[in-house]
Amino acid sequence: MKNDEYSNEFYRLLPSVNDLLLTPGVKALLCFHSHDTVASSIRDALSRIREEISDGQHTRTSIKERLASLEDGIVDGLVRKGRYSLRPVINATGVILHTNLGRASLSQTALDHIVEVAKGYCNLEFDLTSGERSSRDVHVESLILRVLAKKTGANEPSNTHRALVVNNCAAATFIALNTLAEGKEVLISRGELIEIGGGFRIPEILRKSGATLREVGTTNRTSLSDYERAISPDTGLILRVHQSNFSMHGFVTRPQISELAALGKRSNVSVFEDQGTGLIFSLEAHGILCEQSLLEGYRQGSDLLAASGDKLLGGPQCGLLIGRKDLIERIRQNPLLRTYRVDKLTYAALEATLLDHVSGAADSIPTLRMIGLDADEIKIRCHWIASKIPAENLFVDVVPTVSVIGGGTTPDARLSSYALSLRHATLTADELLSTLRQSTPPVIGRISEGNVLLDLRTVDADLDTSLATLLRGHHVAMRTSVQMSDR
Ligand SMILES: *Cc1c(COP(=O)(O)O)cnc(C)c1O
Repeated sequence: MKNDEYSNEFYRLLPSVNDLLLTPGVKALLCFHSHDTVASSIRDALSRIREEISDGQHTRTSIKERLASLEDGIVDGLVRKGRYSLRPVINATGVILHTNLGRASLSQTALDHIVEVAKGYCNLEFDLTSGERSSRDVHVESLILRVLAKKTGANEPSNTHRALVVNNCAAATFIALNTLAEGKEVLISRGELIEIGGGFRIPEILRKSGATLREVGTTNRTSLSDYERAISPDTGLILRVHQSNFSMHGFVTRPQISELAALGKRSNVSVFEDQGTGLIFSLEAHGILCEQSLLEGYRQGSDLLAASGDKLLGGPQCGLLIGRKDLIERIRQNPLLRTYRVDKLTYAALEATLLDHVSGAADSIPTLRMIGLDADEIKIRCHWIASKIPAENLFVDVVPTVSVIGGGTTPDARLSSYALSLRHATLTADELLSTLRQSTPPVIGRISEGNVLLDLRTVDADLDTSLATLLRGHHVAMRTSVQMSDR
């Protein structure tokens, strides 16, 4: 605490951004980086020192040494920043599967497995028993079937099914349509001709796959007989698409998967379900009642299912195809499959995530953990962080809010949560939001009723201390910048 006496003196020792821009080392940076980038790097370096001063970390000697190496620090910071475009951020939006922020965070077991598999060689396509070449699918195929067996209460994994993995669910859908319905008609309800996001529109994908779209029913109501009447010798598939990112209410109906499956069987047409979310656990405990899971389609007899790896499964980006042996084998024979091949990192992460699901360690999967967080627990964390921020320039309240699962899943689901509500003495909400986005690490929040909200449901509790420090830093930065301009 003794150092407090000196902190004003120490703050005054800090050079201004303009002074630093004129030093030779920093000037040289301007040949390679824009003025704004260099200036922001200088501001970061200065705000780190201000934070250290406010934490009482400095003595008269140490602050001098610190300032002597300041220029090096700025250069290093820029070089490091310049090296990586992809950086970790703190997602305080309350959107759990935020596609722009990388969707599902991986479990520790998945991360460990990626590192152990990627840092050297591995048996990606090599059978350790026979010493022969093998297929990369073996690493997760039986595991996927085991997970499905366990989750649907079957004793044994199905021996009538197979599974395979591609880049993402969009690729899974495309390759399935191209393999099974090229030159044929695909029956789909008018209520399912959807756009998933990022320009993935079912009718366009269908056309590109070489299949012909055959719309049945109406937007809000499609009956089994609509499908039945449309079946002809030209029918290649019945396609069912999960209405993942929107919901319809009111005068609405469509057949159950089991009814479609029975019709398919009678007419010798396969049913392909683009399930999308990869949900394999119950959301009911979280008050989300009518979200169709991957398990339902599987149990009700979809011949082939496609799902994402990085939505509610909580794993890496990839697409799973699960279905009847003969259909999966035909897809395996499609030469295009090679263009959707995934790498060893994906297999490692997927294998570990699936094992977390079977071993019941589902709580180690961040997506599941975040969904399950209790609002009161989040509230306590909010209060703890708020207590660390002196109310001078940055005013912090703790307010109730709602988080969403996102990622094109559960469009109606709302999880009650709590957020830090921030208001700044001089910055507008937009300016504060942007300042937070440009801090290190960047903090992504949202604006509600003129305040910046940071929903802690999507922030790992391990980051609470950093977040508190960072917010306190903003408070200090603002205060000292006023002092500097007074000078
Ligand atoms: C999300 C989604 C997709 C696309 O999945 P990606 O893994 O992002 O390619 C396709 N279909 C449905 C129904 C989806 O929900």
